[in-house]
Amino acid sequence: MHTASCQHDDHSHPGLTGAPLRGALAAAERRCAETQERLTPPRRRVLELLLGADGPQKAYDLIAAYGAAGEPAKPPTVYRALEFLERLGFAHRIESLNAYVPCRLEAEGHQAAFLICDCCGAAQEFEPDFTAQRAAAEAAGYAVSGITLEARGLCPACRA
Ligand SMILES: [Zn+2]
Ligand SMILES: [Zn+2]
Ligand SMILES: [Zn+2]
Repeated sequence: MHTASCQHDDHSHPGLTGAPLRGALAAAERRCAETQERLTPPRRRVLELLLGADGPQKAYDLIAAYGAAGEPAKPPTVYRALEFLERLGFAHRIESLNAYVPCRLEAEGHQAAFLICDCCGAAQEFEPDFTAQRAAAEAAGYAVSGITLEARGLCPACRA
């Protein structure tokens, strides 16, 4: 999703292809098997699209790209697959973009945080340390179930 408005030097954030893509899908199959879950064909296809994408994907991008021969998916097929992928930690939704990215950290149940480029639309995941925020929330009597951090700015290529 390198946006048309970005005029900076060609810098793509290519998704996976070929052997690395097949390897990532095989790893996902193994992680599913370990947790008695099934990477059904629709789940696998949506994960494949996310892994192969060059940036965050909106649900309608995935619906349009779903069919190998160009035919779109039924929307519930894609939404259900995304729900599953999020639940198992294979993908994250970036709330401020309303778009999805594959999880590159391969850590289950972690808190995701993103650096988002306002110019080219790149989104990089990093693992935040929310210890202080959790402590503050607990001190205020809250039971925290999740914290989202989406930092916006310019990526290195767009800053140059
Ligand atoms: Zn740019
Ligand atoms: Zn992640
Ligand atoms: Zn950028």
